[in-house]
Amino acid sequence: MKEARNLVGGEWQSSVLHLESVNPANRRVIGLAHIASADTVREAVAAARAAAQGWRELGLWARASHLAKLADAIQASADALKRLITAEMGRPLPEAEIEVLESADMIRFFAEDAKSFFSGESLPINPALFPGKLSYTIREPLGVVGVIKPWNYPLELPLWSIGAALLAGNTVVFKPSELTPLVGAEIGRLAQESGLPAGVLNIVHGAGDTGEQLVDSDIDMISFTGSLKTGQRVMEVAAKRVLKVSLELGGSDACLVLGDADLEEAVNGTLWGRFTNCGQVCVSAKRIIVVDSIADRFVQAFVNRVAALRVGDGSSADVDLGPLVSDAQRDRLIGQVTDAIERGATLLVGGSVPPGQPDGFFYSPTVLTDVTDDMRVVAEEVFGPVAVIFRAHDADHALQLANQSQFCLGASVWSQSLDRALGVASRIRAGMVWVNEINVAYPNCPWGGISRSGSGRELGRDGVLEYTSSKHVNIDITDEKTRPWWFPYGRS
Ligand code: NAD
Repeated sequence: MKEARNLVGGEWQSSVLHLESVNPANRRVIGLAHIASADTVREAVAAARAAAQGWRELGLWARASHLAKLADAIQASADALKRLITAEMGRPLPEAEIEVLESADMIRFFAEDAKSFFSGESLPINPALFPGKLSYTIREPLGVVGVIKPWNYPLELPLWSIGAALLAGNTVVFKPSELTPLVGAEIGRLAQESGLPAGVLNIVHGAGDTGEQLVDSDIDMISFTGSLKTGQRVMEVAAKRVLKVSLELGGSDACLVLGDADLEEAVNGTLWGRFTNCGQVCVSAKRIIVVDSIADRFVQAFVNRVAALRVGDGSSADVDLGPLVSDAQRDRLIGQVTDAIERGATLLVGGSVPPGQPDGFFYSPTVLTDVTDDMRVVAEEVFGPVAVIFRAHDADHALQLANQSQFCLGASVWSQSLDRALGVASRIRAGMVWVNEINVAYPNCPWGGISRSGSGRELGRDGVLEYTSSKHVNIDITDEKTRPWWFPYGRS
């Protein structure tokens, strides 16, 4: 059985308390994680602090070359990594493979293209008020970054934060999700294999209390991805230390299918956008809003496609949807669907636990219509294979429905008119909008939400600079021995 230990200052440490890693397709225990004690969390932060100066002074190019080796190591272990992802959180192997390849691609982006983001700026100063001044900014690391991530992309999400933080010259203490500690520990193994100096990346395992100990420790920034509720708690604890916080939180993305959408493309895209990763994606199409003129044809084609999705163990061939990650996650979903049906929603397909897979946390892909705002499937984030379809009179009404959510992460618009699609896209309250596309992250484009979906950005220039602070340097280049605003006052 695999064991995930805590990585502290380059050493793998055991502990007396363990948590089990369970394969959600069959409930088999596949590994044990060693839960970090409060002392271990403190030691990990101290190790990161001790390594910080050396890592910073190594310089940008040397740090980037470490990341290039990390990208190679990920690529070299791609097969084992994808199998571990599927075994630990259930997504089908083809999806796990894409996650591994994207992870390597993102780290390569940090190693190669992202170096140019650290150039700083030279700033003009008004000579009439302040003659003979030269000002510029430089980008500096923050110090020690705490990285706390969820289980739904257990390799990619941690790596896009860790990669950017390390490139910028920070050291890291990473806490993986308690549901995916084995993949989390693999990140430490890969970092060691690629020659990362001891203490630059540390890993502590555990659930929420371990995460909270990390937030409440001697770190300089917390990079958090997870639910709204946990994000609020992280912000609360971080406020005591005035800690810089980057939050990537939940979403309830609107997917607007306008009357002139290409029906086949919109159905295919929306189907994948809602059901990939068993619907457990922050930017899943959680509220599908279809304009009346196309709605009947869309719903019929969509339901037919949903009914044909193949549910099963993600490690088998010919499976489209794996299990949900845990029993708790499935129970919550069942509660949300039951509530919707009791309040009058119409169930078009699914809505049950599929027979034949009694051991795994499976749920049939489900479609609901006639939903209202008071239902949990609308008011809450739905993290599972349940599509909720609204009807709108026209594009303006669709936009009005889209902007009613408390979440503002991503959105998508399906239309054959670029003018119309861009007009709608510009009025959607969200951090990201895809037009005739959905749910794709590109290494050089910023990722993140607004309002209750979080603050801060990952990826792209904005995401990399999130892990830096800007230092302003101001120089006097005159021969003057005094300044008009210095003492004594009252000189003419
Ligand atoms: P979660 O909030 O339950 O847990 C996230 C992480 O926080 C885990 O590692 C957990 O152990 C830790 N944690 C729990 N309590 C904590 C506390 N008090 N202090 C510090 N850390 C604590 O979320 P989850 O179920 O793991 O992930 C699903 C959520 O993540 C969904 O809401 C999803 O939308 C969101 N998500 C957002 C993005 C994004 O980019 N915006 C990406 C992926 C997932």
